Amino acid sequence: MKRRSIIAANWKMNGNLSLINEMIIGLNDMQLNENVTVVICPSFPYLAAFSQKATSENLQKGILLGSQNVNEQQSGAFTGEISTDMLKECDVQYVIVGHSERRSIYKETSTLVAQKIKKVLDAGLTPILCIGESESERENEQTNVVLSAQLQPVIDSIGIEKFVDVVIAYEPVWAIGTGKTASPEMAQETHHFIREFLAQNNAKIASKVPLLYGGSMNATNCETLFAQTDIDGGLIGGASLKVDEFKIICSTAKGY
Ligand code: PEP
Repeated sequence: MKRRSIIAANWKMNGNLSLINEMIIGLNDMQLNENVTVVICPSFPYLAAFSQKATSENLQKGILLGSQNVNEQQSGAFTGEISTDMLKECDVQYVIVGHSERRSIYKETSTLVAQKIKKVLDAGLTPILCIGESESERENEQTNVVLSAQLQPVIDSIGIEKFVDVVIAYEPVWAIGTGKTASPEMAQETHHFIREFLAQNNAKIASKVPLLYGGSMNATNCETLFAQTDIDGGLIGGASLKVDEFKIICSTAKGY
């Protein structure tokens, strides 16, 4: 099955206006492979700035804007929160949902994650659903149980057919920001499990869902990860803050 590649940059609470400008100028200067989509996810205050700079620099097609989070409600008295309508006004097209830092530090449950995914889809945006096991869960051979428990509430909330508009990022928690990457074989085995889990509900839809790997991906290890059958791109934290390194990762992705 042919699937497009997606390279998403999760800047977390890092970056500034200069990095926005440098990244747009740097990415506009490169030849992106056809069927590769790049998504930059800066912090909320920089979304509008990214969009304005992208327009003024005539940023090449295929480089899009994403947010790192969203609220599941439409609007109202939710101090400090951001709605899908606000994101859309800033030209956001992708939304990271359920990142492990949101799950562990801000106690987002899989039920809340499922509500957010539904809200994002209803708004016509594309969610990047993050799932992944902790180090102890991997050691105790609980990886597949944990991933199933993270996926099932989303399937129950939106229905399997809607997964055609969902991107999944498998991010082993022990590999995020640690410099420890899952081996390409281990990542492939887990991606294959995720696809099979979706296929139990609908094989055709499962074959279309882009599955990204995340966890200390960099310019050196990305090529062997991208070469795996079920790895369709990456969600990149640390290495996405360095324009030159991120460009290497983007140009390594081939698409189908
Ligand atoms: C992430 O934040 O989603 C991530 C994968 O971070 P890093 O690449 O730094 O491990």
